Amino acid sequence: MTAGLRDRFAQYLAEGRNADMGYLERNLEKRFDPALLVPGAESVLCFLAPYGQAGGGIAGFAQGVDYHKVVKDRLFAVILELKKKFPAFEGRPFVDSAPVMERYWAVKAGLGFIGQNNFFISPEYGLRTIIGVIVCNIPADRFAPHAPLAATDCGACGACLRACPSGALRAPFELDAAKCLSYLTIESKEPLPEAFATRESRRGWRFGCEECMRACPWDKPLTPLPEFETHRSELETMSDADWAGLSEEEFEKRFADSGLRRAGLIHIIS
Ligand code: SF4
Ligand code: SF4
Repeated sequence: MTAGLRDRFAQYLAEGRNADMGYLERNLEKRFDPALLVPGAESVLCFLAPYGQAGGGIAGFAQGVDYHKVVKDRLFAVILELKKKFPAFEGRPFVDSAPVMERYWAVKAGLGFIGQNNFFISPEYGLRTIIGVIVCNIPADRFAPHAPLAATDCGACGACLRACPSGALRAPFELDAAKCLSYLTIESKEPLPEAFATRESRRGWRFGCEECMRACPWDKPLTPLPEFETHRSELETMSDADWAGLSEEEFEKRFADSGLRRAGLIHIIS
């Protein structure tokens, strides 16, 4: 399974499906060998941070404080606890910001599997989790293994492929980022393509897209971390007119701690 993920990642890059996310092509060896990233690394500890439903056309993971900060802060707290248990403990936390394959390690840790929609799926917690990892100097056999999983693959489902509105999910595990509404509304620095220029054409999505997640039978509501919810009430009630009337300055001020700034106001109001 993990070798499969590694091979699929290589193929994804070879076919240019990462669009202009060139950073994914760098540091490939480090992605799969954390000892190259953290000298003396013996194991990778994996944690799942739950987030809630989408609201106001904004993905569920972006309803509060930027997840990079939220999860990293939580991991630093975990490190403090681990130092009490293992006095020689040394470790570094990573959350989607360094060449670390979080999903790969979460699968290897026995927490779940990769779905055909490319989300990490925990049979216990579903799809709405951010994976945080700590690369540390304590061997894996010093930690209790995870219980066996209720499922380890999608079986004959395919619901996510049928649900994708843009054709980005063109086959199981095959995501063409250049067509993906999540990529186009969050990562891309280009104006939205004409086919997705209006919010109606994006099924109402402003920032992100959860169509292939919502279609998944493993998607389930979770109690989100409170930090992931701090902007929910305003995001859920903001109308098109409210967004259109928001100045760049006000946007930067109101959402200073939010991941929404990654996309920029211009993408969100399109
Ligand atoms: S996030 Fe949306 S556009 Fe991207 S693959 Fe999933 S359903 Fe398709
Ligand atoms: S919708 Fe079905 S095929 Fe797609 S990820 Fe979920 S279980 Fe797998």
